[in-house]
Amino acid sequence: MRAAHLRDAMADAGCDGVLVTNVTNIRYLTGFTGSAAMLLVRSGDLVFVTDGRYRDQAVEQLAAAGVSADVEIGRTTDEQRDHLAARVSDLDRLGLEAEHVSWAQKRRFRTTWFEGTELVATEGLVEGLRERKDAGEIARIEAASAMADAALAAVRHRLGEGATEAEVALELEWQMRRLGAEGPSFETIVASGPNGAKPHHRAGPRRVAEGDLVVIDFGALVEGYHSDMTRTLMVGEPSDTQARMFDVVHEAQAAGVAAVRAGVEGQAVDETCRAVIREAGWEDAFLHGTGHGVGLDIHEPPRVSTTADATLADGHVVTVEPGVYLAEHGGVRIEDTVVVTPDGCRTLTRAPKGRDL
Ligand code: ZN
Ligand code: ZN
Repeated sequence: MRAAHLRDAMADAGCDGVLVTNVTNIRYLTGFTGSAAMLLVRSGDLVFVTDGRYRDQAVEQLAAAGVSADVEIGRTTDEQRDHLAARVSDLDRLGLEAEHVSWAQKRRFRTTWFEGTELVATEGLVEGLRERKDAGEIARIEAASAMADAALAAVRHRLGEGATEAEVALELEWQMRRLGAEGPSFETIVASGPNGAKPHHRAGPRRVAEGDLVVIDFGALVEGYHSDMTRTLMVGEPSDTQARMFDVVHEAQAAGVAAVRAGVEGQAVDETCRAVIREAGWEDAFLHGTGHGVGLDIHEPPRVSTTADATLADGHVVTVEPGVYLAEHGGVRIEDTVVVTPDGCRTLTRAPKGRDL
């Protein structure tokens, strides 16, 4: 059970309790999908505190996830404090999620909520557990990826018909929703022509035109899990430089995916992609890291970049997404999401990678 693993991590961090306040981490631990809750994890029990809006939902979702916790409803902040303070008072060292607690909250916890208990800054306790996905999590990401694949197949022809970036983005999102997605997994990127040279351009009013490379980066959301895929398509005939950009990124991306395996450093996968682009003379035009973990968050550990210190492990889900961005020619990025396995990886994003519409 997930809370049991958190207790091990909590003990390693020198705490006899941890207060989880990040709602995504709470969802991971309890199945609760609401927007406000706090979860106190102690060695012997779980205390789940939320407000009146979620009285029934909390009980139902925790039961559905097989989580046994004391569910306490605090209609006001003072009531919520009282539920927690009573349980924190017999702890010596309470861990807080340093990356998710504001300065004001920390001050309040120290002075009025948990006086007498030492507060300890912890980092990445739950995020560390979330890195390796179980079969159910992978199935959700795979389902989301399949919706994105199908949406692109239905919409890609629109690039040759004078649609605007925003129209293409909307149609992709509509197709994903039609297939059952809860929504797009992040703001859909459709970056055509010169806009493609900005890696995170937003879809705007520009009409896609002949001679454009079009970078499309998007995903679907299924039961809280994200998918993430980029394809670059060419409208009309590419210039020599555009054709070479495409080939170089295509080769770099394939080499990166081939390098993914449990036990390999994230940094090594990044270097595999980067070496191909460096060889082509475009290292300075590869403006970002090679990839990131994907799960309940669209960007989560482990990172696959020049500075990543993570070692890939069985069950990690990561992206491989090298790109080349040149102001005069546009951009090319190709991204797959893969599951790391002991002897390689399995690709979840399966739309064709060719540049033709
Ligand atoms: Zn992406
Ligand atoms: Zn990505």
